[in-house]
Order: sequence, then structure tokens, then C-alpha cells
Amino acid sequence: MNAKILETENVTVSFDGFKALNQLNFSMDVGELRVVIGPNGAGKTTFLDVITGKVQPTVGRVLFKGRNLRSLPEYKIARLGIGRKFQTPRIYLNLTPRENLEITINKNKNVFSTLFERSNAVEQNNIKGLLETIGLTPKADIRAGLLSHGEKQRLEIGMLVAQSPDLLLVDEPVAGLTDEETHNIGELLLALSQSHSILVIEHDMEFVRQIAKKVTVLHEGSVLCEGNFEEVQNDSRVIEVYLGK
Ligand code: ADP
Repeated sequence: MNAKILETENVTVSFDGFKALNQLNFSMDVGELRVVIGPNGAGKTTFLDVITGKVQPTVGRVLFKGRNLRSLPEYKIARLGIGRKFQTPRIYLNLTPRENLEITINKNKNVFSTLFERSNAVEQNNIKGLLETIGLTPKADIRAGLLSHGEKQRLEIGMLVAQSPDLLLVDEPVAGLTDEETHNIGELLLALSQSHSILVIEHDMEFVRQIAKKVTVLHEGSVLCEGNFEEVQNDSRVIEVYLGK
């Protein structure tokens, strides 16, 4: 049996009596790349919020690598190894991609280690590798503000990886991107999934088809169905919630 990176047990999140999540049971293996889809209002953002500790479950438990996250503040959950990428890139536009990655790595570092030359050399090597992975080596030293929207998304994914999380939460990475940029993000996430567990929220079905082995459909705060892309696409309940109203 595979170890679980993430589980939610009967998680309910109520806002003034309204259940944004309703007895949500979800589980994901270590090393898995999972895509969560669902119509507007299904509870996708609340799902990420409850994993990262931004919102506490009213009922139920969230387990990360078997550990109950109950009552832990967001920064502690992040330190345990959960990294979240928001929909809009949060990068420093006046700095270069290389500097953006440097800052992200240094943010997580013990102050004293900055004194050692050798660790800096190791970091430079890591940054070089990351720039290569995200396809930004040729643009490593231009202002990040000059990057295309897709390149900014890739840079931010690189900044997420630079924090060495075990689980990457990626919220709508291809919204507003061209087909080519979308495809590049898909290739990047597939490459990263060789070494990370990744949970992606996405609307773009071509993109979901490109990257997902397993898809979870949320509806009214619960799991409506799960399966591979074709199974989910052909499920009558899914067709109904997307098209039936
Ligand atoms: P999705 O991301 O799938 O569109 P959300 O998780 O944003 O769905 O929202 C699920 C439901 O919970 C929606 O009906 C939304 O209006 C409601 N909701 C989300 N956050 C709050 C909040 N802070 N207060 C009240 N209702 C909320």
C-alpha cells in the first residue's frame, strides 16, 4: 500500500451555517499528481484553504503524511512541507528570475549559513538547475516584469519548488494562458511530479487531460466522483453538474 501524503476525513467547513465543504473525504498517495476540478462554488478554494491552515475545519481532520494539522497556524503547516501557489503570480517584477529564486531560497535559510561560501555555491547550482527546469535560463537576468504571463507562472512555480515542499498546491496555473504556454506548464508539472506530490486545481479540460492520471470532481463541498480523465469526463453526474442546470 502506498503511503498517503494527504488525507481529509469527513471535513466540513461551515460559514454561518453554509457548508462550503461537506464531509469531504479525500486521499492522495505520496508522489501522486492529482487534479481537482468542479464548477464554481464547489469548494475548491476552501479545500486548499483548509489544507494550508488558512481556514480550520468545523468538523473532521486534515492529515499531512499522517500528521493531524488541527490548530496549526499557516506558517507551521508551510514549514512541515506544504507549499501553495496562488492563481496570480506573486513575484518581484523589478528583480530578475535569478534574484527572485535567490530571495526565495534565502528566506528559508538559517542566517548563519549565509556566512559560508560553500553553501552559496551549492545554492547557485540549485538555482541554475531550477532555471533550467522552469525553462528560464535564457531570461535568467532580465527584469521579471518583462516576462510573458506564462513565464511568470513558471517562475512562480520555480519559487515554490525552491522552498523544497513535499506537497505542491497549485491553483489554476493556466488561467489566461495561450495554448502553447499552457502546454509548457503541463510539461513542467509532469517533470516536477517525478520528485514531488502535486495537487492542482484547474478548469481547463485540455490541460487536465494532458497532466492528470487521476481526477477528483468536487461538487457542493463533497467528492462527486474520481477516476481517470475519460472516466470522469463520461460520468453522467459530472456532465449534469457542469451542463445540466
Ligand atoms: P470554488 O473555489 O470551487 O469556486 P469556494 O471554495 O471559493 O469554491 O466556495 C465554496 C462556497 O463557499 C461558495 O458558495 C462560496 O460563496 C462560499 N464561501 C467561501 N468562502 C466563504 C466565506 N469566507 N464566507 C462565506 N461563504 C464562503
